[in-house]
Amino acid sequence: MTKYIFVTGGVVSSVGKGVLAACLGLLLEARGLKLTMMKLDPYINVDPGTMNPFEHGEVFVTDDGAETDLDLGHYQRFTSCKLSQKSNVTTGGIYNAVIQKERRGEYLGKTVQVIPHITDEIKSRIRMLTADPEQQYDVAIVEIGGTVGDIESLPFLEALRQFRLEIGPKHCCFVHVTLVPYIEAAGELKTKPTQHSVRALRDIGIQPNVIVCRTGPHQLSEEQMHKIAMFCDVTGEAIISAEDISPLYAIPMNFKKQGLDNTVLDMLHLEAPASNLQEWTAMVERMQRASTELRIAAIGKYVEHEDAYKSINEALLHAGIANDCKVKLDWIEAEQLEGDADPATILAPYQGILVGPGFGQRGIDGKIATVRYARESRTPFFGICLGMQVAVIEIARHCAEMPEANSTEFDPECSDPVISLLSEQRGIQDMGGTMRLGEYRCDLKPGTHAHVAYGADVVYERHRHRYEFNNAYLERLTRVGGMVVSGAHPKGDYQLVEIIELADHPWFCAVQFHPEFKSTPLHPQPLFRDFVKAALSRSRS
Ligand code: GLN
Repeated sequence: MTKYIFVTGGVVSSVGKGVLAACLGLLLEARGLKLTMMKLDPYINVDPGTMNPFEHGEVFVTDDGAETDLDLGHYQRFTSCKLSQKSNVTTGGIYNAVIQKERRGEYLGKTVQVIPHITDEIKSRIRMLTADPEQQYDVAIVEIGGTVGDIESLPFLEALRQFRLEIGPKHCCFVHVTLVPYIEAAGELKTKPTQHSVRALRDIGIQPNVIVCRTGPHQLSEEQMHKIAMFCDVTGEAIISAEDISPLYAIPMNFKKQGLDNTVLDMLHLEAPASNLQEWTAMVERMQRASTELRIAAIGKYVEHEDAYKSINEALLHAGIANDCKVKLDWIEAEQLEGDADPATILAPYQGILVGPGFGQRGIDGKIATVRYARESRTPFFGICLGMQVAVIEIARHCAEMPEANSTEFDPECSDPVISLLSEQRGIQDMGGTMRLGEYRCDLKPGTHAHVAYGADVVYERHRHRYEFNNAYLERLTRVGGMVVSGAHPKGDYQLVEIIELADHPWFCAVQFHPEFKSTPLHPQPLFRDFVKAALSRSRS
């Protein structure tokens, strides 16, 4: 039977529950266990798809097209578990389902309430995660977003309390992640906030089994560990000191050293083979050995939010590992490249240029100026999603004699809509759920950069966009503009353009999909890897 680990957070938000859950997942997979993971988010949005990246960071997309919390990106980069629609559930999603059931009369005239109806729905989602007839999961890790003490998380925690009782305490382990702040004036780490947050959890009826203490650059002393153990009623070995560690991918080793996997397995009464972390450790060592530095400029519009392009940052890091170099990435606000700005003064120091995804008009001119600079200066260029669309606009305007070329997203009336909605999409008003989402097949053209990178004829990548390349301009852009279509999605009697390149350029590749969502440190995404490789050879030439 599946065992469950619930990860909660205390004291402050952003305490690192997602990374802890992912690291624990890695340690358990290293013990040969079959794992699945899930995040419960306490906000009312049905999914994070409609949230502004400034506020919430990146939206992570799964193969089956779920728009999910960025913590799922951590799960995917650290573990091999397959994420899907089932892997992220929000309060909005739960209420939505309960209200629909109520409208259908499924509650047989009963008053519909938080307990039991909302909590039952939460429990059923957790069960659904593991009730896969084709998979026998040993462990499910379920992370609960938000902070203990928030009004929003109460129904989730109540549902977990009931769940534990239903399946039996031996099959559950509660891991609570807290902040232990360092008070400068006192010169010491303070355990009181942790004690309070554990008390808040116990008020709800949940006793944590393991407490992971985030301590910034400091380390918990034996004495402090003892104090937390005693006040919070957990065993000494179940207090884990989680000081800041860089790189991120070295964090699991710190948890391993403190026996986190053993402690959790003991709590779950689960036997598992000895740990094999060799491949992971070798990857971290390779990463730490790399000394050559490579400067990449990435152009975007949500650059102030550290997590807005999380998976791209990580994918470039993975590409660096594969090329034995350290990628120094600077995100540059697209608007800085507009007006009188000379792109060369900003972009010349970089060996590679990336234009990232985005929505809306702001910064588009700066992105087009960037593509033009990369094309003319023959700097390796990688465009992602909107990055591909602006690359097409740039080629159309400056290489294919269409000065008015644009996307109908920015100019619905433009005379040369090289990027537009497909006819079947027109007239759809609803913003949520109208996008091309999830994994689609892409056929590659032999001899192109994309084909070389993937070393395959057919690949599958994940999408999240509304607009598409307009096939009416295919002939002109390829014949006059020098554009090459190196990847396309077959659609019966026509195809959707997925990858474009320039034949006369060292490495210019732009994709309609989001390759960053599939990159992991052990399996760097091929296009990111070859982009970094091309940038490295430019720096050496
Ligand atoms: N705004 C563009 C579209 O909807 C690109 C989206 C993206 O970059 N993810 O098609």
